[in-house]
Amino acid sequence: MQTSLIAGAVVLGLALPAMAQDGPAPDDLMNATVWMETSVEYKATVLQLFKQAQTQLDAALADPEWSAVPDKQPDNYADLPVAIVTDLDETMLDNGNYEASLIARGTSYNSAEWTDYVNSKTSSAVYGALDFLKYADSKGVKIFYVSNRKAPEVEGSRENMEALGFPMGGNVDTLLFRGVQEDWGSAKENRIAYVAKDYRVVMLMGDNLGDFSDAASGTLAERDAFLESSKDHWGHDWIMFPNPEYGSWEEAAFGGDWSKSPEERRAAKIDALEPWEPSAE
Ligand SMILES: [Mg+2]
Repeated sequence: MQTSLIAGAVVLGLALPAMAQDGPAPDDLMNATVWMETSVEYKATVLQLFKQAQTQLDAALADPEWSAVPDKQPDNYADLPVAIVTDLDETMLDNGNYEASLIARGTSYNSAEWTDYVNSKTSSAVYGALDFLKYADSKGVKIFYVSNRKAPEVEGSRENMEALGFPMGGNVDTLLFRGVQEDWGSAKENRIAYVAKDYRVVMLMGDNLGDFSDAASGTLAERDAFLESSKDHWGHDWIMFPNPEYGSWEEAAFGGDWSKSPEERRAAKIDALEPWEPSAE
């Protein structure tokens, strides 16, 4: 029935786009969000990562020399209490309902609306995150949440996380958000260093290269070079989570230039690909 209607519309020269008005327009965010929100493949992937993180955490606790950030630790770091530094969004907190809302409304991220979203306290926990965090907490490991959520989003985040059952650090402030201190910008290494002064940081966890290194803001080639130089960390004391929805990988593909229009950014991303070309017949 639908096919014959479309065929009839074509024959009559009617405007087919009108038939698409029942739902949102095609959106580059859709497949990534459907994968992260509905697929067993995503859940199994992150479950594997949390299992690996737990194994590595046990090894780290048994080895006083173990550090994920040896360049940021003081000389006596083996004597310090143990901590993990983790990102929040799409590492421990799942904001798929926000991404779904963007798709449903045909709009894109904006900072003010994001604050409203955070303060709605409707993020959920990434699959497997709470089991891992509670395990770490049970071993006396302090968990620092180094997030680029902003200072006005601290309290909403705290209430959301407490309701979900996240370990919150007791009398230590473990929500180290962007802008809470003057020099805490979007680059995270100085916040990681802030933790590493007083704790043996045994693991970094994130979904974005920037959760591990300020090299995230480099070009595609610079980011690849950083990967080559950091191979020993990955899967050992740095654990990367998948996020095909957004991240520094996307910015790198269009040169980090947000003044470009959505169409220009999309064209740059396509240009970053190296397509196979079928041989001419
Ligand atoms: Mg994140």
